[in-house]
Amino acid sequence: MTAPKAMAWHKRRLQQIREWQSSRRFPDFIDESAIEQVLVENRSPSRQAVLDIVQKARDHATTGELLSPAEVALLAHVEEPDLWEAIFEAADWIKRTVYGNRIVLFAPLYVSSSCVNNCKYCGFRTANTAVARRNLTSSELREEVRTLVSMGHKRLIMVYGESEDSDYRYICETVSAAYSVKEGFGEIRRANINASPLSVEEYGAVKSVGIGTYQVFQETYHRPTYRAVHPEGTLKGEYDWRLFSLHRAQEAGIDDIAIGVLFGLYDWRFELLGLLHHAMALEREFGVGPHTISYPRLEPAKNTPLATESPWLVSDEDFAKIVAIVRLMCPYTGSILTAREPAELRRKTIGGGGVSQMDAGSRIAVGGYSRMHEAHQPDRQQFLLSDTRTLDEFIHDLCRDGYLPSFCTAGYREGRTGAVFMPLAKHATVKNFCIANGILSFEEYLQDYASPQVREIGQQIVIPKYLKWLEENVPALSEKVHLNLCRVREEKQRDLHF
Ligand code: SF4
Repeated sequence: MTAPKAMAWHKRRLQQIREWQSSRRFPDFIDESAIEQVLVENRSPSRQAVLDIVQKARDHATTGELLSPAEVALLAHVEEPDLWEAIFEAADWIKRTVYGNRIVLFAPLYVSSSCVNNCKYCGFRTANTAVARRNLTSSELREEVRTLVSMGHKRLIMVYGESEDSDYRYICETVSAAYSVKEGFGEIRRANINASPLSVEEYGAVKSVGIGTYQVFQETYHRPTYRAVHPEGTLKGEYDWRLFSLHRAQEAGIDDIAIGVLFGLYDWRFELLGLLHHAMALEREFGVGPHTISYPRLEPAKNTPLATESPWLVSDEDFAKIVAIVRLMCPYTGSILTAREPAELRRKTIGGGGVSQMDAGSRIAVGGYSRMHEAHQPDRQQFLLSDTRTLDEFIHDLCRDGYLPSFCTAGYREGRTGAVFMPLAKHATVKNFCIANGILSFEEYLQDYASPQVREIGQQIVIPKYLKWLEENVPALSEKVHLNLCRVREEKQRDLHF
């Protein structure tokens, strides 16, 4: 693409964004001074107030209600270690109550890294010449997907930079290409998207190729910080286009939508309230809250000083608090803890944070899976990855800690999205599907991809444990799962789900 052509596209896109913003019909939902005031008013919580909120959050596990901004602010100011223990225990209990003790597994797939934006925290920003950027061709993408499905993955988050060459048409083409790959029993059954905000019409096109969830992270809800890290004149510099991006996705019929913050850009307590107000606004407008919430932290990136020098960097201790508060404030949401974080911290945070989805065996360089035999490549990555365990090693550790690793992708293919999914999650009945589909999809992994050690612990301990849970809690479903388990094992049937 020639520079004048790229500049013309950029200009047109910016104009389109600004036109949408000037005619926006949705009310604003981020009031900085109101959030700051709530934080100030609730900075000295009494023990009893904290314990009452913890109990209330437990009660909300079966009603799906959100905590209020004041309650979240109060939790965010707790200091006593024993009260944090009560919060961590509640987070674990709420997650088990809503989703059961399964962890859904996915892989990030970086499809394009060329980007017209200049976000100061990102290794892919245009000004950073130290990191190579490119977009996968169709055959390269298929090669990446072949490697992923050969590891056992069934669910992707496909990640895109923002440029004319990776617009919604490129997203459609690459998602279709990913779904077309079949390698033995290997295939991708759910492709979630992490990409720049689109117009309603563009979202409609992306929906038509069968995507799962569409993620847009606001990065920071604090407007002055947003302006400081997203330079004026860039596409991403337009705060409201991004803030209401998932409203437009809902308008286009994409009803599984995902929010997130890049923690470390501004005060984590403020950002938690931003996430809460975002969830409340989506519920008010569409009756459907976020399908998942993500909480990536700033990670070191090549030639990117802000990533290590921001005054708001979040410590491991505060990170664990953030994850737990997300679970208490929004009990029905999926909670995503990625391999950005070190293995030991992830292990500690799964239970105490009520995490429900994790990636493993991840590569975040564009084209990185086709070069699995090589070391990670910081000069081709957006940031540096911390947990580099293989998928099989990760699953082994999950099994050892008593979790059910799940490759379930049944939800959206069975029509359980948006307003259909929400009551199941809000009334904590979705776990019946989660455990049943978790068992069947994990058995597929054990049959087709697992190491002998993982197969042994999976078949001897994990699957029997969760079959027993089904027998005791949902006997009618349990019989069907037993039947389908035989089909998976003896008849080599695949993709049996409820
Ligand atoms: S954060 Fe996203 S939009 Fe910003 S420079 Fe990086 S890839 Fe581009």
